[in-house]
Amino acid sequence: MENTYLKQQYEKFEKLYPNEKEYLQSIHDVLNSIDDIIEFHPEYETFNVVERLLEPERVISFKVTWIDDEKNVRVNRGYRVQHSSLIGPYKGGLRFHPSVNQSVLKFLAFDQTLKNSLTNLPMGGGKGGSDFNPKGKSDFEIMTFCHAFMRELFHHLGEDVDVPAGDIGVGQREIGYLYGYYKKITNQVTSSMTGKDSLIGGSLVRREATGYGLAYFVEALLGKIKNTTFKDKKVIISGSGNVALHAALKVRELGGKVIAMSDSSGFIHDEEGLDIDMIKTIKQENRERIKRYLDHYENAQYKDESSNIWTLKADIALPCATQNELDETAAKHLVDNGIMLVGEGANMPTTSKGKAVFKKHDILFAPCKAANAGGVLVSGFEIAQSAQFNSWSFDTINEKLKAMMETIFNDIHQTAKKYDKDTDLQFGVNVYSFQKLVQAMLEQGIV
Ligand code: NDP
Repeated sequence: MENTYLKQQYEKFEKLYPNEKEYLQSIHDVLNSIDDIIEFHPEYETFNVVERLLEPERVISFKVTWIDDEKNVRVNRGYRVQHSSLIGPYKGGLRFHPSVNQSVLKFLAFDQTLKNSLTNLPMGGGKGGSDFNPKGKSDFEIMTFCHAFMRELFHHLGEDVDVPAGDIGVGQREIGYLYGYYKKITNQVTSSMTGKDSLIGGSLVRREATGYGLAYFVEALLGKIKNTTFKDKKVIISGSGNVALHAALKVRELGGKVIAMSDSSGFIHDEEGLDIDMIKTIKQENRERIKRYLDHYENAQYKDESSNIWTLKADIALPCATQNELDETAAKHLVDNGIMLVGEGANMPTTSKGKAVFKKHDILFAPCKAANAGGVLVSGFEIAQSAQFNSWSFDTINEKLKAMMETIFNDIHQTAKKYDKDTDLQFGVNVYSFQKLVQAMLEQGIV
C-alpha cells in the first residue's frame, strides 16, 4: 500500500483493533486494491470514505443463557454486526461455532457488504452468531439455544432493518427454530429471516445456492478466460457442509470429477471420483464424520489432517470450509502440482500469502466476495417472493442464479480489464464493489 491516506487509515484501524486479525486482514486486502485507483479519486480522501466504510454502523453483543439436557445453566456470547445499510437493510448470515468472536464477525460483515453490492439487489451487509458449539448437541438443545439466542436478537431485526440467514453451524433446522421463535414473540409473519424451508416461506434453491453459484461462476470464468469447462477436470473441495456439498453436486453435473472432500477431522480421497450422494447422507442426514465413507467404499483413502487435502494433484481447487484454511504452504503445493484455478466457496479461505503465491504464478483465482454470492442472491429472491406473496419454481430460480453469477463475473472482469489488470478478479471485485458503495455513500451526504 503506497497511498498516504490509505496507509493512515489502515494504521488507525490497527491501533483501534489490534486483536482483530481477521478484520484487519480483510480490510487490508480491499485497501491494497484501492491503492491502485485512488489517484483518480481525490474525493475519497476529501469525504473520508475509507474510514466511513470500514467502521461498522453498529456492533451488538449480548449474553445467551440456556439450559442443556442435563439441566445445567449455560452461557454463550451472541453478536450481530450491522455493518452497512448504504444499499438496503443489513443482510448476512448467523454462524454458530466456538471460533466466533467480534473480529471474525466484523470481517464477515464487511465482506458481506461488498458482496451484497454486487447482486444489484437492495441489500446492506451484516453478520452475526455465537461461540455456541452445535457439535454433539441434541436436537432439543439446539432448539433451546436458538430460542434463547433469538430472545435477545429479535430487538434488532425486521424485514426493513436486518434480515439474517444461515452460515457455518446454522442450516435449515436452526433457521426454522430461530424464525419460529421470532414469529412467536413478535406476532409477525414477515421475511425477517431467509434460508427457511420452502414449507414455511423459504425459497427453493436457497440451500443449493452458494455451492451451485460457485460452480456457475467458475464455469463462466473457465469459459471466458480459458475457453474450457469443468468437463473431465479433477476437483478438490474442502469441507462437506452446505456449500461444499452443493458445489460438488453441481461440479459433477457439469462433468467434473470430485476426487477429495474433507471435514474438520480429515479428508477422503478417491482418484476415480467420490460418491457425493453418499457424503451428503453421511454428513447432512446422519451428521457423522466423513471418515464413515470408508464403511461404504473401501478403496477410498482417509487421512486425519484436513489441510493435507491441498497436497493432492488436481486441476481445480474449491476451498469451501472456513477462513484461512488455504495458506502459503498449501498454495505452493497446489501450484507445484499444476493447479489451473482456485475458486473460493468459503469466506476468506485463502490467506494473504496464499493469494500472493497464486498471483505470482498466474493461477486463475475466483475471489469469495463474488464466487460465493449465490447464497445471498437467492436470499434476495426469497425476500422478493415473500413481498409478492408468491413462490417461483426451482428452474426459474436456478436460471436466475446462473445468469446473475455470470453477470457478477462479467462486471468484475470488466473492471479488472478497465484498469489493465485483465484476469485479476481479486482487484476487480474489490474495486467494483468499493466504488459502488462509495457512490451510494456520497448520494446520502454525511450521515
Ligand atoms: P457448514 O456448517 O454447513 O459446513 C462447514 C463445513 O466445513 C463442515 O463440513 C465442517 O466440518 C468443515 N470444516 C470446518 N472447519 C474445517 C477445516 N479447518 N478443515 C476442513 N473442513 C472444515 O457451513 P457452510 O457450508 O454453510 O459454510 C462454509 C463456508 O462458506 C463458510 O466460510 C461460510 O461463511 C461460507 N458461506 C456460506 C454460505 C451459505 O449459504 N451457507 C454463503 C456464503 C458463504 P465438520 O462437519 O467437521 O464441522
